[in-house]
Amino acid sequence: MLNYIEALEIIWKHIPQPVPVETSLENALEGYLAEPVTSAEHIPSFSNSAMDGFAVRSEDVRAVSAENPIKLNVVGKALAGKPWTGELAKGQAVYITTGAPVPENADCVIQVENTRAADEESVEIITPGKKGLNIRYPGEDVRAGQTVFAKHEKINPGHIGLLATLGITRPKIFRKPTVAYLSTGDELVQPDQQPGEGQIRNSNTALIRAQVQQLGSRFIDLGIASDNEQDLEQKLTFDEKPDILLTAAGVSMGEYDLVGKVLEKIGLETVFWKVAIKPGKPLLFGKLNSTLYFGLPGNPVSAAVVFLQFVAPVIRCLSGSLTPFIKPVAAIAEDTFKNAPQRLNFARGICTCCNNGWRVRSAGGQGSHVLSGLAASNCLVMVPAQKKIEPGDEVPVQLPAGDLITLEDFKQAFAGLLS
Ligand code: AMP
Ligand code: MG
Repeated sequence: MLNYIEALEIIWKHIPQPVPVETSLENALEGYLAEPVTSAEHIPSFSNSAMDGFAVRSEDVRAVSAENPIKLNVVGKALAGKPWTGELAKGQAVYITTGAPVPENADCVIQVENTRAADEESVEIITPGKKGLNIRYPGEDVRAGQTVFAKHEKINPGHIGLLATLGITRPKIFRKPTVAYLSTGDELVQPDQQPGEGQIRNSNTALIRAQVQQLGSRFIDLGIASDNEQDLEQKLTFDEKPDILLTAAGVSMGEYDLVGKVLEKIGLETVFWKVAIKPGKPLLFGKLNSTLYFGLPGNPVSAAVVFLQFVAPVIRCLSGSLTPFIKPVAAIAEDTFKNAPQRLNFARGICTCCNNGWRVRSAGGQGSHVLSGLAASNCLVMVPAQKKIEPGDEVPVQLPAGDLITLEDFKQAFAGLLS
C-alpha cells in the first residue's frame, strides 16, 4: 500500500498548471494573483488631514500652550471632498475635516480637542504643533510605480481594499477550481428530512461544501446516488467539466461499493486505491478526462480528513498557491494518542499555545463517524505508525492557520518531525 507521502507525490504529478483569468473584486477574495500589481499613482494622491481640527502654519503654533495660547483667524473650511482653495497667511487657520486636502501654505493640523473656540471668527490653539503634524502625505502608503503585490500572493480583504483604491477592478487571478461532489449510499436522506428506519442524514455534502467554500472554490452539488450502478452512472454523467470530482462512500470492500467500478466504466483512469493512513485508507484517486477524481471514504470524519490532507492542497495549487501544504509543528501531547499499525493516524486534537510551545490534547472520540470530535478540534495530530504517543511525548500537529509551504519543504518538515 502507498504511504502518505508517496500518495501525495503521485497526485502532485497529475495537477495541471493554474489558469490566469480576469475577475471581479468580489470574486477575487481568497484567490491568488496571476501577475504582480503595480501602482500607477501615489496613495494618498494629495496631502490631507488625518484629524478633524484646524490647518495652520507651524511657525504660528510652535511654542503655544494652554497658558500661552495663540488666537488665529479662521478664514474658511476645508471639508473632505470640498477643498478650501485659498492660500493660508500668517496668523490664519482653516477648519479642516479628516481626509480634506491641506490648504496651500498650511503644514500642520491641530486636532480640534487641542483648540478652544474664541469667537465667531477665531480659534485658540492650546497645544504646540510642528511641520507635518496630522498630515498624510502623497505616496505615504504606496508610491507611483511601486509593485504592491507579487504574483501568486493570496488575496485577503486588505488586498481587495487596496486594489479598489488603485482603481484595479478586474485583477488577474488564477481561476478558482470548481469542485463537484456526489454523496452515495442507500441510507442517506437530505438534512431537512426525517430519516426512516436505518436511514441517516447526509452530512457529507454540507461538510465538504463548507470545506470547499473555505478555500474560496466553487462547489457543485451532484446530490445523492443510491447504491446501484444505474443511479451512480446517471449522477456521475454531467455536462460541466469540474477541475475536481469528489464522491464519498462506496469505495471500500463492501459488496455495494460500486463507485470505482461505475467510474471506470465511464472513463476513469484509476491511479491508486488505498493509502496507509487512518482514517481514509480506501482513498481512490484517478483522472476522468481532465478532471482529478478523489473517491473519499463515507464516514464524515474520514472524508473531512482526506479532504484536508489531499484535496485541499490540490485546490490551493490549482488556485495558484506555490505553498499549498500546512507546515506541521511539534507539540507536547497531554493525552495518549493511539497509533494505527502500519498507518499514519490523523487524530483530531485541540492545540493550545503556551510559553514553551504548543500543547495538544484529544478533541474527544476518535472514531471516524464522531463528528463532535471533528467539530471540537482545531488541529490534526499526526501519530506515526510505529509509536503510541504518551503524555509528554512530542508529536507533529497541523493547525489550519499554520504556515503554508511547498511539497518539498513539507516532506522535509514531516520527515524531520517523525524521526
Ligand atoms: P461506506 O463507505 O459506504 O461503507 O460508508 C461508511 C460509513 O459512512 C457508513 O456508516 C455510512 O452510512 C456513512 N456515510 C456515507 N456517506 C455519508 C454521508 N454522505 N453522510 C453521512 N454519513 C455517510
Ligand atoms: Mg455505503
